[in-house]
Amino acid sequence: MPDHAVSLRGLRKSFGDVEAVAGVDLDIADGEFFAMLGPSGSGKTTVLRMIAGFESPTAGNVLLGGRDVTRLAPFQRDVNTVFQDYALFPHMNVLENVEYGLRVKKVPGRRERALKMLETVRLSGFEKRRPGQLSGGQRQRVALARALVNEPRVLLLDEPLGALDLKLREEMQVELKAIQREVGITFLFVTHDQEEALTMSDRIAVFDRGRIEQTGTPAEVYERPATPFVAGFVGTSNLMSGQVALDVLGREGTFSVRPEKLRVAALDDPVGDEERSAVGTVAEVVYAGPATRFVVDLEAGGRLIALQQNQQVSSMDVSRLRGEKVRLVWYRSHEFALA
Ligand code: ATP
Repeated sequence: MPDHAVSLRGLRKSFGDVEAVAGVDLDIADGEFFAMLGPSGSGKTTVLRMIAGFESPTAGNVLLGGRDVTRLAPFQRDVNTVFQDYALFPHMNVLENVEYGLRVKKVPGRRERALKMLETVRLSGFEKRRPGQLSGGQRQRVALARALVNEPRVLLLDEPLGALDLKLREEMQVELKAIQREVGITFLFVTHDQEEALTMSDRIAVFDRGRIEQTGTPAEVYERPATPFVAGFVGTSNLMSGQVALDVLGREGTFSVRPEKLRVAALDDPVGDEERSAVGTVAEVVYAGPATRFVVDLEAGGRLIALQQNQQVSSMDVSRLRGEKVRLVWYRSHEFALA
């Protein structure tokens, strides 16, 4: 079996009484675009910092390409980090920033390599500008080029798009993915933004309180979350449990069905053999551009959110449904049980 780009074995880190990382095991394949996703304080940045070598573990090991690097200094590890604030040198121009690492190591042909990398991040023509003369998105690309030009085995990115506004962030999500595909280097990034993790990654590890709750592809994590925490953090949880689960699903336990899987129908609409339904009162109708969100209080108790594409409903007149009784209909195959 080929060595993994990154392997974490029983990784722990305590700061005084705070157990920031409480035992993490993880294998990341070469060339993967991997996200560590979790709420603030869940320990993902501390894990990233231990991989980079800026923080030493209380217990456990970090392996890069099968080699134990736990006790090596950052510069002895085959990784580069892109920080959230980019940490560019303000007095150097773009080309000098990108070339810097190679110049320190006296790498031959460094000018060509830097120029080539600027082309990859689509910044050709900006060589002479200083960081202060660039937009946020352009600065982020310089930071990316500066890290990638060293050809590390793994690129670590700490909230890479955190400093950008929504529109630019969406553009850079697509760009980052394209750049990663082009250079073929393993990207490991930290984010608290579920959409960012879902759209960019090959796989995601969802963190909570210093532990990994679930690891999987975006579709696995979203369609089949393992725990109520994952269901709620990655998307809307729409839980049915206790008496509600018994009444609606005829089963004991905790279940969920994603909002976009629910159809808002009239009370007398037919329900197919493979479908299930529940009657409730529309508490809220929220118009959200491409879709409308219905908040429905079930007769059986509990509340479900239904998201309808505005191609299916007429967005102009759905607000009249507020206070009305509706039938929510979904395919049984779209329900899932939670641990
Ligand atoms: P965020 O998204 O806010 O950065 P995170 O998931 O990356 O959160 P960490 O930054 O890894 O979380 O922090 C995990 C826990 O460890 C938090 O409770 C934090 O306060 C604590 N912590 C992190 N670094 C230190 C430190 N140097 N000293 C003391 N406590 C720390």
